[in-house]
Amino acid sequence: MTQPRPHAHFRPRLATTVRLGLGGLLLLFSLSVWLSLPLLGGIVDKTNQVRDEYLPDLTRWRYNTQRTEQLYGFIQTLYWSNDSQVARSSRLQAQVLLDSFAFEPSNALTTQAAQILLNIQTLARLRDSQRTTLHEVQALAGALQRGDAISGDGAERLGRFAASCTRLGLIGTDWQALRQEADQLQARLPTEPAKALAELQTRFAQLQALETQVDQTYRQALEQQKHLAATLNTDTALKTQQIASAVEKEANQIRHYGLLTMLLLGAITLGMLYAFQRFLLRPILRCTQALEQLNSKQPVQLPERTLFHELDTICRSVSQYSDMTRQLQHLNQELMQLSQQDGLTGLSNRRHFDSVLAVEHARACRHGQDLALILIDIDHFKKLNDRYGHLLGDDCLRQLADVLRRFSRRPGDLAARYGGEEFALILPEMSLEQSRLLAQRVRQTLAELVVPTDTGEPVCFTASLGLIHTGRAGRHTPESMIHQADLALYRAKQLGRNRVEIAEQAVAPT
Ligand code: GH3
Ligand code: MG
Ligand code: MG
Repeated sequence: MTQPRPHAHFRPRLATTVRLGLGGLLLLFSLSVWLSLPLLGGIVDKTNQVRDEYLPDLTRWRYNTQRTEQLYGFIQTLYWSNDSQVARSSRLQAQVLLDSFAFEPSNALTTQAAQILLNIQTLARLRDSQRTTLHEVQALAGALQRGDAISGDGAERLGRFAASCTRLGLIGTDWQALRQEADQLQARLPTEPAKALAELQTRFAQLQALETQVDQTYRQALEQQKHLAATLNTDTALKTQQIASAVEKEANQIRHYGLLTMLLLGAITLGMLYAFQRFLLRPILRCTQALEQLNSKQPVQLPERTLFHELDTICRSVSQYSDMTRQLQHLNQELMQLSQQDGLTGLSNRRHFDSVLAVEHARACRHGQDLALILIDIDHFKKLNDRYGHLLGDDCLRQLADVLRRFSRRPGDLAARYGGEEFALILPEMSLEQSRLLAQRVRQTLAELVVPTDTGEPVCFTASLGLIHTGRAGRHTPESMIHQADLALYRAKQLGRNRVEIAEQAVAPT
C-alpha cells in the first residue's frame, strides 16, 4: 500500500490555478486590447495627419494642372484671335492666373510664371501693334481704292489690289507676296499713288516683322507653358512617391506590431497548452490508465507528486484503491485455491474434482473425444495406520500424491484426493491403451515406493486401481463413470489388490 506522502510546503490548489489562469487570460486579452487601442488611434491620427499634410498639395496640383491647361488656352487665343477685345480679356485672365503662381512655395515655379507672363504681355503688345498697323493698311488701301487720278491698265490692277488690302486679316496673310505685288504696281504708277503704295509697302514690312516676332514669342510662350506643366508634373510625382513611402512605412510598422502580438499570443497559448497537458492532463490520464488496468498484472506507475494538491489527493486515492484491489484479487485467488485444494496432499479436493470431471465430460461429449478416469485406493491402509501410526499414514498419502502429480502433467489432466485414502485421475483425450498403461505405471511406481520412517524401517504399500475409459463420453454421465470406475476398483480388490481393473463398457443408466 502506498505510504501517505509527506506534506509539501506549497501546493497550489487546482481551483485557484484555474481561476488564476482564466484571470491571466482575461488580463492578457485586456492588455492586448489596451495596447491595440492606442495603436489603432495612432493609425487614425497618422491617416488624418497624412491627409491634412498632403490634401492641400494634392488639391493644388490638380488646380495647377487646370491652370496650365487654361494658360495654354489663353496663349492660343492671344495668338489666333482677330478680335482685340477677346485678346485683351485673355491677356488679363492669363495675367491673373500667372500672378497666382507668385504664392507658390517653389521659386522655380514663380520664375517660370513670371517669364511666361512677360511673353504673354509681349505677344499681346505685338498683336496690338499688328492690329493698329493693319488698320492703317486698310485705311491707306481704302484711300487708294477711292483715288480718281489713277487710270489705265495699272489703275484697274491697283484697284483690285487696294480692295484686297481692305479685307486683309491678321492671321494667315502672306506679307512678302503683298510687298512684291506692291513693288510691281509701283513701277507702273504715277508719282501720287506710288507714294501711297510705298506707304503701304512700309506697313507690310512692319507687319511682316511683327509677324516674325509674334511667332517667336508665341512659340517661346508655348515652350515655357510646357516646361511649367512638366515642372508641376515632376513635383506631383515626387510628392506622390513621398506619400507612398510614408504610407508604406506606417503599414510596415503596423504589420510588424501585429506579427509580434500574434507571435506573443501564440507563444503564451502554446505554453499554457503545454502546462495544461503536462501538469493537469497527464496525471489524470495516468489515474484513468491505472483504474483501467486494475485487472492486469503490471501496475501503472502513478506520479509521486503533482503540481496541484487536488491531483495529489486523486493520485493517492487511485494508488490506494489500486493496491487494495490487487490485494483483494490476490486473497481471492488464494481463497479459491484453498477451496479447491486438499489440505494434506495439496491435490485437488473432491469438490474441484467433481466440477472438473463435469467440465471434461461435457467437453468430451461435445467433441467426441476420449476421456479416462482412474480411481486409486491404498490396499490395507487401515492396517498400515494401525501398525505405523496415522502420521506415517499421512506421509504415505503425500508420497502417493506426488506420484499422481508426476503422472498428470498434461494440460487438462487432474489428480485429486477423492476421499480418505482414495484418489482419482482425470485424463482427457487419452486412448484406452494409453490410460491402461499409465494406470499400470502408477501402480508399479507405488508398489516400488519406499516411505522412510523414524525407526529406519522401510514402509511400502500397494494400491488398487479401477479404470473407466470412454471413446464416446456421451454414453456415460460423470456419476456413472465414477460408479463404473468404483466397480472396477472393487473388482481389483476382490481379485487380490495391487492391480488395475478396467470397467466393462456397459451402457450407463441415464
Ligand atoms: P482395503 O484394502 O479393502 O481398502 O482395506 P483398507 O484397510 O484400506 O480399508 P478401508 O478403505 O476401509 O480403510 C480406510 C482407512 O483409511 C481408514 C482410515 O483409518 C484410513 N484413513 C482415512 N483417511 C485417512 C487419513 O487422512 N490419514 C490416515 N493416516 N489414515 C486415513
Ligand atoms: Mg478405501
Ligand atoms: Mg483402502
